[in-house]
Amino acid sequence: MKKRIILRFKKNTIDKPIVYKLVKDYNLIFNILRANISPKAESLMVMELEGTEANFKKGMKYLKGLDIDTEPMERDINRDENKCVHCGLCTSVCAPEALYIKDRRSMSIEFDYNRCVACELCVKVCPVKAMSVSFE
Ligand code: SF4
Ligand code: SF4
Repeated sequence: MKKRIILRFKKNTIDKPIVYKLVKDYNLIFNILRANISPKAESLMVMELEGTEANFKKGMKYLKGLDIDTEPMERDINRDENKCVHCGLCTSVCAPEALYIKDRRSMSIEFDYNRCVACELCVKVCPVKAMSVSFE
């Protein structure tokens, strides 16, 4: 099986060798898709894991034991550049700052896909429905 998961680390868990353990102890193949690591706040990582179902479950149990929250990522977020009017509303709800003000003078809003954790909050607030969610 292959699954994409979102990992949320608290400050005291970012230094754990989790990738090494997932590979070595649970025989899981990994691909880090996105990472937003901060020593001062909650950190996030989106990872694709591949392995047997039994090993996947054991790996998730290992992460839970370290107090690392995991959730499956089964959706993707996209922005329709033609619809976006750069109102900036979405930047106020986007905690990982995937949506951010690039230039204060022009107030142009950028979307950094690599930081997005698919929380869908921007989809709810965008007045012109420029942000959308797709399911795998
Ligand atoms: S809320 Fe929608 S229209 Fe406004 S900046 Fe964000 S994506 Fe663009
Ligand atoms: S879904 Fe939207 S609000 Fe949530 S992290 Fe991605 S860009 Fe930010």
